[in-house]
Amino acid sequence: MKIYLASGNAHKKQEMAAIFAGHTIVIPADEGIEFDPAETGSTFMENSLIKAKALWNLVKQPVLADDSGICVDILNGVPGVYSARYAGKDRHTGTPDGRKLPQEEQNRLLLEETAEAVAARLAGTASHKGIESELRACRYVCAMILFLGPDRFYAAQETMEGTLIPSLSESRGTGGFGYDPIVILNGYGKTVAELSAEEKNRVSHRGKAGAALRKLLDDYPRGIR
Ligand code: IMP
Repeated sequence: MKIYLASGNAHKKQEMAAIFAGHTIVIPADEGIEFDPAETGSTFMENSLIKAKALWNLVKQPVLADDSGICVDILNGVPGVYSARYAGKDRHTGTPDGRKLPQEEQNRLLLEETAEAVAARLAGTASHKGIESELRACRYVCAMILFLGPDRFYAAQETMEGTLIPSLSESRGTGGFGYDPIVILNGYGKTVAELSAEEKNRVSHRGKAGAALRKLLDDYPRGIR
């Protein structure tokens, strides 16, 4: 089935094409469709639905939308829905002019803000052994919607649990995208950027949400049309 992916991110397209192998994943840019809806929601699911509806209104064909990001526990979930725009401690929702910082700069700023919060939490504590890395706990979240029409859609939200590395000099790996080189996948001892594409899709927030919707698509009794 041809499915439009409500995204302009070529890397996401690659991941989704693997997750939905056997289906044809097309992003608006592939067909010269301008698509940049304002993501005004305060949750991943709200934004996913905004993107799904906006693209369905343009193509009137099955749409997959995903909204995702990284949430750091000690920062109360920051940067969350603003992950793409995050610009540091006093700029959680982005730069004043809306310019997106280079990813490495975003990574550095997120590690610095986290390190500062960890130090503040540990101030006056005698022994920090083993606690510091626990305080850098984070998770990726993905809210995905398979949108077949305004009255027919399916949603799944999933996570991938990780731990931020202590500083940018410990970044590792060249795979994935975004914050992947600074997130250690819990239980693997590797950053997400050190995983192969197949490994990442098996355990990732996007991979797991996609697998749930894919199963639904494949098992749907009458076939989804
Ligand atoms: P979205 O395109 O509005 O969903 O924004 C997602 C943002 O969250 C991306 O630009 C990345 O900064 C971050 N993000 C989401 N998923 C991942 C991932 O799998 N790896 C790394 N960063 C991610």
